Amino acid sequence: MDLKELIKKYSTSGPRYTSYPTAPQWVETFKVDSYREQLKKSFTGKTEPIALYVHIPFCEALCYYCGCNIQITKDHSRSRIYLDALIREIQTAVETIGTRQTLSQISWGGGTPTFFNCDEIKQLHLATLQAFDLAPGAEVSIEIDPRVTTREQLKTLRDLGFNRVSLGVQDFNTEVQKVINRIQSIQLTDEMLKFCRSLGFSGINFDLIYGLPLQTVETFKKTLKEVIALRPDRIALYNYAHLPSLRPHQKIMDKHPRPDSEERLAIFTDGYTEFTQHGYRSIGMDHFALETDELFLAIGKEKLYRNFMGYTVKRGAGMIGIGASAIGEIGGSYFQNIRETKPYEDSVSQTGLAAFRGCLLSQEDTERKWIIQQLMCKFVLRFKDYQVLFHKDFGKEFSKELSLLSEFQKEGILTCDSQAILISDLGRLFIRNVAMIFDAYLALPTQATYSKTL
Ligand code: SF4
Repeated sequence: MDLKELIKKYSTSGPRYTSYPTAPQWVETFKVDSYREQLKKSFTGKTEPIALYVHIPFCEALCYYCGCNIQITKDHSRSRIYLDALIREIQTAVETIGTRQTLSQISWGGGTPTFFNCDEIKQLHLATLQAFDLAPGAEVSIEIDPRVTTREQLKTLRDLGFNRVSLGVQDFNTEVQKVINRIQSIQLTDEMLKFCRSLGFSGINFDLIYGLPLQTVETFKKTLKEVIALRPDRIALYNYAHLPSLRPHQKIMDKHPRPDSEERLAIFTDGYTEFTQHGYRSIGMDHFALETDELFLAIGKEKLYRNFMGYTVKRGAGMIGIGASAIGEIGGSYFQNIRETKPYEDSVSQTGLAAFRGCLLSQEDTERKWIIQQLMCKFVLRFKDYQVLFHKDFGKEFSKELSLLSEFQKEGILTCDSQAILISDLGRLFIRNVAMIFDAYLALPTQATYSKTL
């Protein structure tokens, strides 16, 4: 089967496995009290570094494809109240834990984190550093929108110690940009990329989206070439999820044709081929990195990790999520904050925290989570590692799942013997499909809407 046929075969709906169990399994009985309990239980007295995610939901204008948790406003006085809530939430989390924690990773996402002005950026970061220690070599990253981020903000971020940036790009075609309400020239993106490099940011990422209105194989080929010419260190090529029932604003684009599934597959296949022919390697699913980038080098060293922000080289023994909709991974549990900004601020003002749902992992969940993480980050699952960790025989526990791997094996996606499952280079592209075999919840009835695996 050639690459295009394989992609067609495995293009199905499925989780991205930033968590296991995935969010549709989480329940709203876990709120602030259980969150407090888990923070204490999992982190108090522990010294292993953890990660911190901060969500800033504001954007000045709506991109019609957007699937993020956002609040559109041009009113920058709105930042102050939200910033106060973020700082209060950080302080409450730290007071609850009671012993000082070290961060190996800080990520600001959104929304548009640079909606905050330079003073607000400083205040938030300094409040973080007052509350936590930063591990040497910590990854400190931020998502930036080249259309609204200023050089002064970038300098401020770099001076504060931020070392990674991710630039939203999506597509360079001007007609597509008009329809999605996001005009962003190549020149602007190029200048921002170069400026970030000159300041010393590394591991610079571009986010692209395929499946948008008016995109065709031909138009996107041009975007691919333009992106490759700019040479970002990392590229994420996401499949657009058109879910107007969840994101009503996406309906605005319905009057324009979107590429059908055949064309999407052709666009993705082109992306894979172009990137891999021009010095990029597949990191897994829809992520690519230059062969020289630490993200790619980490695969060989088995030091690639994955959390809610995607792939990283920094391992955290857990993650605290701060801000509206932010997710935390705390010991054997996940928690998510209230999504809407105002109710989030109200909850923080009343209780210091804002968790509204979560999930406590069972023993079986813990084992399956470990398996999925091994496959998605190390691309190898050694049965003896499972035995050492869980004192059980992998072959006996997962005989049904192992019997379902033979087709992947015939297609060159993986090899499986009595010792291990080994994902091939090609197989990294289909890693979500392999992980789905070990997901015990997929067989259960669900209302969940997942994105396409490819
Ligand atoms: S800038 Fe990003 S988060 Fe904001 S509306 Fe556009 S896509 Fe959504």
